[in-house]
Amino acid sequence: MTINDLELVTTHPAVPRGPRAPEKRAAVKTIDLRSDTMTQPTPGLRRAMAAAEVGDDAYGEDRSVTALERYTAELLGKEAALFCSTGTMSNQLALRIHTQPGDEVILDTSHHIHYFESAPSIDLGGVVLNPVTGRDGFLTPQLLQHAIAVKPRGPVYATPRLVCVENTVAFHGGKVVPLAVLRTLREATDLHGLAVHLDGARLPNAAVAAGVSLADYAATADTVSMCFAKGLGAPFGSVLAGPADLINQARRYRKWYGGALHQAGFMAAAALYSLERHYDRLADDHANARLLAELIAGEGGLTVDVGNVESNMVVIGVPDGIDERDFVAVAAEEGVQLMAWGPGRVRATTHLGLNAGDMRVAAERLAELAWRFIRVAV
Ligand SMILES: *Cc1c(COP(=O)(O)O)cnc(C)c1O
Repeated sequence: MTINDLELVTTHPAVPRGPRAPEKRAAVKTIDLRSDTMTQPTPGLRRAMAAAEVGDDAYGEDRSVTALERYTAELLGKEAALFCSTGTMSNQLALRIHTQPGDEVILDTSHHIHYFESAPSIDLGGVVLNPVTGRDGFLTPQLLQHAIAVKPRGPVYATPRLVCVENTVAFHGGKVVPLAVLRTLREATDLHGLAVHLDGARLPNAAVAAGVSLADYAATADTVSMCFAKGLGAPFGSVLAGPADLINQARRYRKWYGGALHQAGFMAAAALYSLERHYDRLADDHANARLLAELIAGEGGLTVDVGNVESNMVVIGVPDGIDERDFVAVAAEEGVQLMAWGPGRVRATTHLGLNAGDMRVAAERLAELAWRFIRVAV
């Protein structure tokens, strides 16, 4: 998620310290479950980068970037694609090409575009966000109807133009939106003449978990963004795919926003490598997340809804009365890094740097820690 969540960990907790001496702790291998952005490039990925053919992409001369854009457009079943530096930039370009300043965008309160990007959406896109709150962050025709009807429309109000969806839904612990839900929503947006943008930062996770192709998911939206630096484990980059005329506009705004890169082929080669080599293995991340959930559920007052673990995230309730930021701080000292995830909850995210053995070690450390908290509380 973001570094801001990490900065929340400021309180120094009055918590039970572990049995291990600090000098021994330093030798413990840290298991970093904060985010799937916390990966190191694999040797093969580094080699692919080093060998990349590059040129000046601002002049359309970087063949690695062009190859990536063609390949991802095809994978996502769209006419064209644009390589962007971050998921945020892809999303912001999508808002810009679908709307005029003063237009309204309907989405869920939990979505990244609302929760983390409301300031840039207003500043760069000039749009009004109209959030609704759906179960698991899923938008339905009923919620859409509600969002449209909540204001008397007319010249006084912003006009809804765009609906944003997200898959997987990060805030809800990586919930996978079923294809049927997005298809039903698409029928409703068509009736209202609204465009749809799919924030698919983790669309590969959703597609692998659901056994649905990227193209079938992408077909439910006009534009789709997808990240290489999340589960796919590349160091950089995102792609925005859609109709050629819209992607041409996005290319222009990308330049305006300072996002037209020069020898970006090094990064495009990494992205291509990550798609080819790390896509199918996302199933391992999902299995590891499930394993972690099963191992810690109920241990020392930790709560996990194992059935809710659908992709690479586990939302864990910390023992009653414990501040989640304190839990995160002490867990880090014990060699397990987590993300504070709202009151009473922490999040663990699996990625390609971790295996099933790491899950067992992490579960053991977390359980031991949780029991220690409990003993102190009684
Ligand atoms: C991470 C993320 C983004 C933004 O990606 P950055 O590359 O960090 O800007 C957008 N949407 C979702 C759902 C994300 O998880």
